[in-house]
Amino acid sequence: MVIAKSVRQQAILATYRETFPIRTPGAIQPHGVLVAIDPATLTITQVSQNIQLVLGYAPFALLGKPLKILLSKTQLLQLTACLDTDFEHVNPLKLQFQLQGKMQYFDGIVHQTDAAIILELEPTASAATVEFISFHRLVKGSLNRMQQVAGLQNFLTLVSAEIRKLTGFDRVMVYRFDHDHAGIVEAESKTDALSPYLGLHFPAIDIPPAARELFQDSPLRLIPNIDYAPVPLIGHDDEQPPLDMSRSLLRQASPCHLEYLRNMGVASTMIIPLIKDQQLWGLIACHHQTPKMVSYEIRSACEFLGQVMCLELSSKVNQTQLNYQVKLQQLQATLIETIVQSDDLTSALVKPDDRLLSLVGAQGAAVCLDQEVTLLGTTPNPAEIRELLLWLTVQAESNLFYTDTLAEQYAPAAAYQSIASGVLFLQISQVRHYAILWFRPEVIQTVQWAGEPQAAMVTDATGAMALSPRKSFEIWQETVHHASLPWKTEEIASALELRSSLVGIVLNRADELAELNTELTRSNQELDSFAYAASHDLQEPLRGIHNYATFVLQDYEDAIDDAGIERLQTIVRLTQRMDSLINALLRFSRLGQAALECKPVDLDRILDRVIRLMQVNRCDMNFEVRRPAALATAQCAPVLVEELFSNLISNALKYNDQATKWVEIGIQPPCVIEEQPAATIYYVRDNGIGIRERHQNKIFQLFKRLHGQKKYGGGTGAGLTIAKKIVERHGGKLWLESTYGQGSTFYFTLGQ
Ligand code: ADP
Repeated sequence: MVIAKSVRQQAILATYRETFPIRTPGAIQPHGVLVAIDPATLTITQVSQNIQLVLGYAPFALLGKPLKILLSKTQLLQLTACLDTDFEHVNPLKLQFQLQGKMQYFDGIVHQTDAAIILELEPTASAATVEFISFHRLVKGSLNRMQQVAGLQNFLTLVSAEIRKLTGFDRVMVYRFDHDHAGIVEAESKTDALSPYLGLHFPAIDIPPAARELFQDSPLRLIPNIDYAPVPLIGHDDEQPPLDMSRSLLRQASPCHLEYLRNMGVASTMIIPLIKDQQLWGLIACHHQTPKMVSYEIRSACEFLGQVMCLELSSKVNQTQLNYQVKLQQLQATLIETIVQSDDLTSALVKPDDRLLSLVGAQGAAVCLDQEVTLLGTTPNPAEIRELLLWLTVQAESNLFYTDTLAEQYAPAAAYQSIASGVLFLQISQVRHYAILWFRPEVIQTVQWAGEPQAAMVTDATGAMALSPRKSFEIWQETVHHASLPWKTEEIASALELRSSLVGIVLNRADELAELNTELTRSNQELDSFAYAASHDLQEPLRGIHNYATFVLQDYEDAIDDAGIERLQTIVRLTQRMDSLINALLRFSRLGQAALECKPVDLDRILDRVIRLMQVNRCDMNFEVRRPAALATAQCAPVLVEELFSNLISNALKYNDQATKWVEIGIQPPCVIEEQPAATIYYVRDNGIGIRERHQNKIFQLFKRLHGQKKYGGGTGAGLTIAKKIVERHGGKLWLESTYGQGSTFYFTLGQ
């Protein structure tokens, strides 16, 4: 947490660093009397100076004397019986003293420190002991209500109301310490005339560490009138070590604390520490605008309610955390369901936008996939986010990084700290640069004033001490500058859970694809073997039809008229055509079945042979073959690659009506993609008729021809389908560029 200390703050800190010994002040408040006793000898070692005024004994008449001067025999016995345990069940001892002819009654409250037994006497109206029954009556109603109320907030509000009802203070607050020991007023009960403090934040220095520690050790504490004159303790021996008054009820308060209360317009106060899991969780703070005494019985009842509250607090806080956890899990479940049903991960994440934000309690988020950044809520701009991403990727451990003081660790974030002092970074995939960032604003942007705070009090010359709630709030604002609310454990867990679900979904999809691929490969193989079997079986009857039609033509030529002969000739021609189609299909299906036997092949030699055959087979020798560079060696199946060249070159010459035809076979200049050497690209270029763009995909379909049967020397329409299959069986690609009327270039690779 960044603590930018202002001048005022420094001054206040300095004041608090004064040397007031809060545990051993050596003085008490004047509304009672303190007597310290040596536990070994039961003699009086220290008394408060006001003992003469209150009890009528001169201090020196008591110091060094046995305690029996003050207590009855029974009381002494009660007290000594408690020496090895605790004094809770004797408190309060009911004492009475004759003073100026009048009987005075006192509550004697005893506790023990390492070095002394401390007896504190507070005046009371009568000697009557409060029975269990009446104590029970005092707290019963409150306890019932506390047990029935649901939810932490309602519970705290009820407790403050119950304490106020019991005591009659003007204002009762439940004050909670956050992780930095700054305080927040979580609940309040007050008279209508007072301004509310509910929701106010106070800096940690309002209650300095030493005072916080003391709260943890001491029981309920009352200051009936802050404007009191402290009463010093007197010992029988000057060498005596200072008395540890940590748990004393009458202990003198720190002047700083009294000044603080004075500045808040408070005349009397009572504090009940709230301990949860052995830690000071907060305080119940009661304020009154005029001096106010609260009887020991009522204080005991309040203390008891405080203890019950602490017991309930754990379960209420845990319940609140649990509720939050459940809420996050429900959000997570609906989000994952949407993602599973959607093809587009990013849009499933960001719609509706508040779901992704609520998942970790953020005000903004960015879903980043490579260079694409999708924003929701309040965020820095995409350029800032891209830059921040580079830094976060380095910081992340186990795909996670979070902070509530980003600008402190990453200076450029100072420019947008009001919207992103906190960041939670979740890396989904390093390879695909897939990440989610959540943002939280600076705390002071988050805090809402619950009501109009009391106007600032007049400050003294240094301004250091005049702490009204507003002044305190200002100091708190300074202490939380550059910081967001911290990320809760449940929120971080929720982000991590989202990551594992996303990774799970992506892996599942990969599995599904792999399964689909295997299925497709299998059905392709089945189709190939079906086509092979069907075409093979068709050949035999076809040959029969062809032969019988030919026989009829030869043997019965004289018996059939011209029309009959023409029809028979058509049958023969159609069977020939069908035969070549079946042969093409056979060839094609065989390609899918045969295993590919690749070896290093000299492509130039293959090309020589293809061209020689071409020259022999073609009647028009009027074409030029251009070979600008050698093709060198490639790892491939030689027979198939020969067929490939043969198909492409024969098409180049066939679909060409130029007077001077040419075909060029070569290699594309090498290009480097992402520093990986790419596969060699071969090409076959011609100056032929070219292919219109809209037909360029169709020509790879089986038996697809762009021309009539008799045009450009005919064909089955299977040549390019076979060529494509050959290339794909080598793991390569076949594609073309063509301008209608000018020529075409077919490109192919023989590997990845
Ligand atoms: P065919 O056996 O009919 O030649 P192909 O599969 O080899 O079948 O070609 C399919 C169609 O593609 C052809 O009918 C032709 O229209 C067109 N074609 C193929 N190569 C070229 C080329 N080099 N120039 C122009 N058109 C071509």
